[in-house]
Amino acid sequence: LVLLGIETSCDETAASVVRQAADGTVEVLSSVVHSQIDDHAAYGGVVPEIAARSHVETIDGVVKRALVEAGCDWSGLDGVAATAGPGLVGGVMVGLSYAKGVAMGRGLPLVAVNHLEGHAVSARLGRPVAYPFLLLLVSGGHCQLLEVRGIGDMSRLGTTLDDAAGEAFDKIAKAMGLGYPGGPALERLAATGTDAGAERFDLPRSLLGRRDCDFSFSGLKTAAARLSQGLETEADKADLARAVQNAIARQLAERSVRALDLFSESHPDLDRPAFVVAGGVAANATVRARLTAVAEARGFDFVAPPMAYCTDNAAMIALAGAERLRLGLTSDLAVAARPRWPLDEARALSDPTHA
Ligand code: ATP
Ligand code: MG
Ligand code: FE
Repeated sequence: LVLLGIETSCDETAASVVRQAADGTVEVLSSVVHSQIDDHAAYGGVVPEIAARSHVETIDGVVKRALVEAGCDWSGLDGVAATAGPGLVGGVMVGLSYAKGVAMGRGLPLVAVNHLEGHAVSARLGRPVAYPFLLLLVSGGHCQLLEVRGIGDMSRLGTTLDDAAGEAFDKIAKAMGLGYPGGPALERLAATGTDAGAERFDLPRSLLGRRDCDFSFSGLKTAAARLSQGLETEADKADLARAVQNAIARQLAERSVRALDLFSESHPDLDRPAFVVAGGVAANATVRARLTAVAEARGFDFVAPPMAYCTDNAAMIALAGAERLRLGLTSDLAVAARPRWPLDEARALSDPTHA
C-alpha cells in the first residue's frame, strides 16, 4: 500500500509518501517537514492563530513536494491519511480538510489518524518492531507508558501527573533563557557541562518508590527555575542544564522499570519484547542511553525511531494510515477534528466522530 500522510497538529506542516508491503516492510519514499519555529520564536512558544494561518499557506506546497520527491502522482496512491487530533484544532482542520479534498477529488479512501498513534508506530519506520511492545511516549504534550498490542489496540499503564517530559525541557530551558524549542537547546548546552559539575545541584527525585507508572516534573521545574537565578557563569549554566537532563532521563528510566515488569508479567511467553521510546524527547541522547540500560537489564530490546521521525513528521501518519487501511479502518468524509483524543480510545478511532 502507498499512502500519502499529512500532519498539521502543531507547528510543523508535514507531508510524506510511505509504502508498506504486504509482508510489513516499510519504505519512506518522501518526508517533507516545514517547521514554523521562526514564526513562533519571538513569542517563546507556539501561537495557535499564527500556526493555523501558516499551515493554510504552506500545506499545498508541502504536499506537492512530497509527491515529487517520492516520484509519485495521485494515481500512485492507495489512500490518504491525516492527523485528526489531538492538537491545535485550527491546524488539525487545515490538514484534515486538505486530505478530505484529496480523498473526494481522487476517489481515495480517507484515514483519520490519531497523532499519538503516529508516534506509537514511528519506530517501525526504521526497522520492524513486532506487536505487542511497551511504549514510552515522550513528546511536547504527552508522557505516557502504553502497552501497544496493535494498531488501535493500546492501553495506558501510566501518565504524567503534571507536565509532559518535553514540556519540562521547554519550560526549564525558557527559565534559563535558552529559547524555543527548549529540548534541543538544553541538550546542546548540557553537552558542554560535566557530570561532576552537575552533581552539586540538588534536584528532587519525584515519585521515587511509588508502585505505579506515573511521572511528575513540576517539582523539578520549580527547583531548576530557582537554581538558575543564582548562576554566575556560562559553565555553571551548562552544569545545571546537564543536571536537569540527567534528572529527566533518570526519572523516565526509573518510572519505566515498573512498566517493564508489568509488561513481562502479562507476556511471559515473549522472548526479548521491544521497549520503544517515541516522541520528540526520544531524540535526546542521554534519555536514550538511560532507557537502553534499563531495557537491557530487563531483557528487552530497546528501540528508538530514526532521529528524523522522533519529532513531528508525516511519515508516521502515513504508516499508521497504511496499517489502518489494511485493517479496513477507513474514515467517513464527515469525520471531525478532535482537539482532545486519548490514545487508549483507539479502538473507536476509525471514525473520531463516533468515539
Ligand atoms: P504531542 O506529540 O504530545 O502533541 P508535540 O507534537 O509538540 O507534542 P513532538 O514534536 O513529538 O511533540 O516533540 C517536541 C518536543 O520534544 C518538544 O518539547 C521539544 O523540546 C522536545 N525535544 C526535541 N528534541 C529534543 C532533545 N534533543 N532533547 C530533549 N527534548 C527534545
Ligand atoms: Mg513541533
Ligand atoms: Fe507530536
